[in-house]
Amino acid sequence: MTECKRDIDCRCAVQKLWDYLDHELTPERMDEVRRHLERCGDCLPHHEYGRVFLAALSSARQADARAPDALRRRVMDSLRAAGLST
Ligand SMILES: [Zn+2]
Repeated sequence: MTECKRDIDCRCAVQKLWDYLDHELTPERMDEVRRHLERCGDCLPHHEYGRVFLAALSSARQADARAPDALRRRVMDSLRAAGLST
């Protein structure tokens, strides 16, 4: 992976997007990506998509934690429906 320069380009911004969304970058890197997203219309849809995706994922995780049995039944049902018995 190439190291990003101070003024990052779109490739760097997208590379770092998931870490950015997880807040796993250093504060300086977070700023770089945020600044890029603010002025780059190309990358903004990527960011929006990632944000929505992670929100959906975390709400699914919360639902699963509350009802693990229901989740397992749902998975088993869909396996059976697909003709795979377990
Ligand atoms: Zn960009």
